[in-house]
Amino acid sequence: MLPLEPSDAELRELGTTALEFVASFVAGLPGKPAHDPGAFAADLSITDNARPVGELLDTVRAAAALGVETAGPRYLGYIPAGGLITSAIAGLLTSALNRFGTVADMAPGLVAIEESVLRWLCREFGLPPGSGGVLTTGASLATLTAVVAARRTPDGTLYVSEHTHVCVAKAAAIAGLPPESVRIVPVDDDLRMDPLAAARMIDQDRRRGLVPFLIAGTAGTTDTGAVDSLAELAGLARREDLWFHVDGAYGGAFQLTGRGRARFAGIEQADSITLDPHKGLFLPYGIGALLVRDTATLDRAYHRQAAYYQDLGQREGLPDYAHRGLELTRDHRGLRVWLPLRLHGVHAFREALDEKLDLAAQAYEQLLRFPGLELLGPPQLSTVVFRLRAGDGPTERLFDEIRARRRYFLTSTRIRGRFFIRLCVLSHRTHAEHVLGAVEEIRSLI
Ligand SMILES: *Cc1c(COP(=O)(O)O)cnc(C)c1O
Repeated sequence: MLPLEPSDAELRELGTTALEFVASFVAGLPGKPAHDPGAFAADLSITDNARPVGELLDTVRAAAALGVETAGPRYLGYIPAGGLITSAIAGLLTSALNRFGTVADMAPGLVAIEESVLRWLCREFGLPPGSGGVLTTGASLATLTAVVAARRTPDGTLYVSEHTHVCVAKAAAIAGLPPESVRIVPVDDDLRMDPLAAARMIDQDRRRGLVPFLIAGTAGTTDTGAVDSLAELAGLARREDLWFHVDGAYGGAFQLTGRGRARFAGIEQADSITLDPHKGLFLPYGIGALLVRDTATLDRAYHRQAAYYQDLGQREGLPDYAHRGLELTRDHRGLRVWLPLRLHGVHAFREALDEKLDLAAQAYEQLLRFPGLELLGPPQLSTVVFRLRAGDGPTERLFDEIRARRRYFLTSTRIRGRFFIRLCVLSHRTHAEHVLGAVEEIRSLI
């Protein structure tokens, strides 16, 4: 029976066994089906009896085989990420160290590591001195953190488009704002928020006595990768004295590329930016980020004193993340971002992201050649959206056939009421062979 604190020899053996599991999982990814609709049958009962690790890893392997192979190279649905294995290793180190990383005085070294990640992100986005942020579980929590900090009155209104992610409306609801406070601005032909329509709506709302407080632009919508005119929205927010939030959960990481940076011009004027390193930096799930122009805005919303904090000192230049968001005790997240960035160098990420833009452009070019297909338009980022000209029914059947083959996992959506299939390229494991393979499969089915 393995004691709660294994011996040195036991720990090394356990580590080797676990790492062999990980290595064979990664080696097997290219050959795996894109999804497995099967049901789970293993015995999961938790009892007083200890079980050997080999048996338990077999159960984990069987559990992981079911559902969608989100780590695999042919996962092209929703927003893929993959999960860099070097970040998973950092996760093991993080948990083993078990440091309290939301109070600088408790773990100044690890807080410095996390802070170096946030400062680097702020620099990449051109945010000024005084900016900073906090790492969260994902963009949903980051968005909530921003909306609560931005809200000035209990009855404010905020401006989104119909393609803005629902996490903004959810954040507004949790912040106590009624559903009608979320104002939906029309989009243009490219599915980008129409800044003139937003300006008119804000003006009309003020005349009706409403209190506009925030505009949410999107740097890559989940459905199609549409990029709002961030510079125009930033100008509008400034003129109207509104908080300018940018949702970069899907697209934000493309800021590391020349093309992304050009498309996101204006993002440097944001009051807050949400990012999902567990999408665009290919990290395992569980890491989102909020960057803010002025960390004092977070401090005002979240800094609380308590008698049981009285022994804690301040650390020069290091923040207490507990005062920048909702969470107190949490996993330290910085190392899981910092280690891969340092280990591979940022250049490797820039190149991989550039490759994703190229792959989506290539898929678009190829699909354009199939006369039966209607494409939504050239990809604004790394998502290609298409349907059969024959209509919704045939497109749904094509979608079902792709699913049934289990080689590629794509997802669908509705745009202006019509059914579309979307192919999103973002995993670090997805390369030309996978994307062109998906295109070939689509060709063979139409
Ligand atoms: C994924 C996504 C979100 C939500 O992020 P989570 O990390 O899943 O909470 C928000 N906005 C956009 C544009 C997204 O693609």
